[in-house]
Amino acid sequence: MDYQQLIEEVYHEVKSANPSGKVADYIPELASVDPNQFGMALVDLEGNIFGVGDYQVPFSIQSISKVHTLAMVAHVFKSKLWSRVNVEPSGNPFNSIAQLEFENGIPRNPFINAGALVITDALTSKFDNPIEEVSKFINEISGKECVQINQEVMDSELKHSERNTALGYFLKAYQNFDNKVEDVLKIYVAHCAMEMCCVDLARSFSFLANDGYSIYAKREIVTESMARRINALMLTCGFYDEAGEFAFRVGLPGKSGVGGGVAAVMPHKFSIAVWSPELNEKGNSVKAIMALELLTDKLKFSLF
Ligand code: GLN
Repeated sequence: MDYQQLIEEVYHEVKSANPSGKVADYIPELASVDPNQFGMALVDLEGNIFGVGDYQVPFSIQSISKVHTLAMVAHVFKSKLWSRVNVEPSGNPFNSIAQLEFENGIPRNPFINAGALVITDALTSKFDNPIEEVSKFINEISGKECVQINQEVMDSELKHSERNTALGYFLKAYQNFDNKVEDVLKIYVAHCAMEMCCVDLARSFSFLANDGYSIYAKREIVTESMARRINALMLTCGFYDEAGEFAFRVGLPGKSGVGGGVAAVMPHKFSIAVWSPELNEKGNSVKAIMALELLTDKLKFSLF
């Protein structure tokens, strides 16, 4: 399979269809991003890189970092962590608070904000300096010192964190939060404010296409069984209330972020990152989803 030709074809088809959306505008730093940027990078399991468009431009990875943080604390299945967060699709927007009350403070899954806050709370308990540990972890599994935290994005997120703060206190009211809400929020916004380009992001997802083993870190990051579980969670919950649509159209485990990035994996073949800042009303990148849909159509296989 000529992956370079494949992604170039996809890139040009998406460019000429030019589906539009709206860049995230809840903070000024994201609202001012050039909406026309678009890039994709595919990395195979030997580490060969195929890229097109703005694939080397760093962007805000936002909620894609929830996969990295989950991988850092997930290793023991059936540990206490999995009694604190469920593994069901939410069918609700990423920042919804409603289900938490009906489900006794147990978030539906680790990728909605409530669930990701529980994961970041677990990280906060585990490490003395969690922000440094997350950067170190992502650098290690990308094989490169690539992670930059955008300080302005981080400060701005903190200033506009009313909803996430509310989620934190709600979790605390149900005894599902061990640390101080403000402390965990700082770590959460820091990992959301990390910037990476498509190549490095695809590399950082490579272990999930490779049964948990990272060819960059040269070690098992999660067990083969946990890699399958994280992929299952991405497939069912990675796009919040659009997870079904993404599985239907693309058929790959993937995770989106409001910076316009999507990272996805084709188990035993490759990992891929696509970035275009314009989002649909569910907060997912319009062009990235279209690109991945075309990609699996052209490949004639997905997970299925
Ligand atoms: N920082 C954003 C938030 O917590 C991340 C959301 C996302 O990328 N879906 O609201």
